[in-house]
Amino acid sequence: MALLVQKYGGTSVGTIERIHRVAERVAQSHRAGDQVVVVLSAMSGETDRLIKLAHEASATPDDREMDMLLSTGERVTVALLAMDLRSRGLNARSYTGRQVGIITNSVHTKARIARVSADRLREALAKGIIPVVAGFQGINEQSDVTTLGRGGSDLSAVALAAALKADRCVIFTDVDGVYTSDPNVVPAARRIDKISYEEMLEMASLGAKVLQARSVEFAAKFNVPVEVNSSFKEGKGTLVTREDADMEAVAVAGVTGDRNQAKITMVGVPDKPGIAAKIFGPVAQANINVDMIIQNVSQDALTDLSFTVPRADLRAATPLLQAVANDVGARSVAITEAIAKVSLIGVGMRSHSGVAAKMFEVLSREGVNIMMISTSEIKISCVIAEKYLELAMRSLHTAFGLDRVVQGEQSAK
Ligand code: ADP
Ligand code: ASP
Ligand code: MG
Repeated sequence: MALLVQKYGGTSVGTIERIHRVAERVAQSHRAGDQVVVVLSAMSGETDRLIKLAHEASATPDDREMDMLLSTGERVTVALLAMDLRSRGLNARSYTGRQVGIITNSVHTKARIARVSADRLREALAKGIIPVVAGFQGINEQSDVTTLGRGGSDLSAVALAAALKADRCVIFTDVDGVYTSDPNVVPAARRIDKISYEEMLEMASLGAKVLQARSVEFAAKFNVPVEVNSSFKEGKGTLVTREDADMEAVAVAGVTGDRNQAKITMVGVPDKPGIAAKIFGPVAQANINVDMIIQNVSQDALTDLSFTVPRADLRAATPLLQAVANDVGARSVAITEAIAKVSLIGVGMRSHSGVAAKMFEVLSREGVNIMMISTSEIKISCVIAEKYLELAMRSLHTAFGLDRVVQGEQSAK
């Protein structure tokens, strides 16, 4: 008998019909003798709908109230699934994040998990109950509702799997695994059988939304085996696990694209010690994640400083940066929204050289201008104009030999 945490995403619980199908799957695992803890997202589109409503209620919705609002989406699906399971004669019960002891810090809308008690879940499991838990939510030390950032139900599932020492955490979604690139953008993308936590973390951080980046970080830290699989069909998925020797054999394991980026340039910043700290200190305090930073060579003791932030944080960052610009005596602040980041990821980059040069060559052949570059041991990212993102992803995918070989094509060669 295995203990499984099964998480079903928004599309998988998007209609009552689909909730019935999830109930069948859960019932099947239960009948097979496994203990199952279910974690659900809100119905697809629901969180976006709620965010839109919030912006209609207020131009700058309060973060605490936002979490109160957003946490309702997951309450709906867990109650509906528990009702369905109960009508099948199964002893299922729905729980909120608070009821299962998910305690977070107080950074509303992107809270981090501080601890998970899961006592109530253990008691429920001991009584033979199938717990159905609302993903994406927790409470802070003051018992206020918090949410875990977009895609945060993945994190709820992984955190509960870690707390319960589950045998596996299965993320059921609308694709049957992690692909070499987003299969909805790159039709030739291939499903990956096994991927390391490290590569998966980079892919998720750089735009592959199939798993939330923080859930991967958590899984790696607590060694939770995560499987990504389809909630619509039976078959092999992708196992996210510790790195093994085979994984270094290929230089590039995946290509990602991220449109959720904006570029900010502080124009005419005095080039002297302490300026960067003055600029980035307040940004960090406002919990805005700065990604790439480029400082140009200075002319006349003035320089331009460009960096990227998540587009969603632009509204909060703009007034703050205007104030900082005045403070440090910068000439102006320029914002470019229509940018995107294309990245290559692979632990094999540690032992294969020439990946960056080939990436630049492919982009130049396609006429794509590179605005910013950043590298780490296992990834290379380029910021480009948003309109070229899909072209860049597909060309790089082909150039690095990742395209699926279609049967027939192979024999024709
Ligand atoms: P859920 O609602 O189940 O959480 P998401 O929409 O968050 O599902 O994530 C699944 C989507 O992630 C897929 O439909 C796919 O378009 C996208 N995606 C992006 N990159 C990848 C990738 N490398 N592999 C698989 N899916 C990817
Ligand atoms: N419903 C939340 C979102 O749309 C959490 C999740 O689906 O994982 O971001
Ligand atoms: Mg998701």
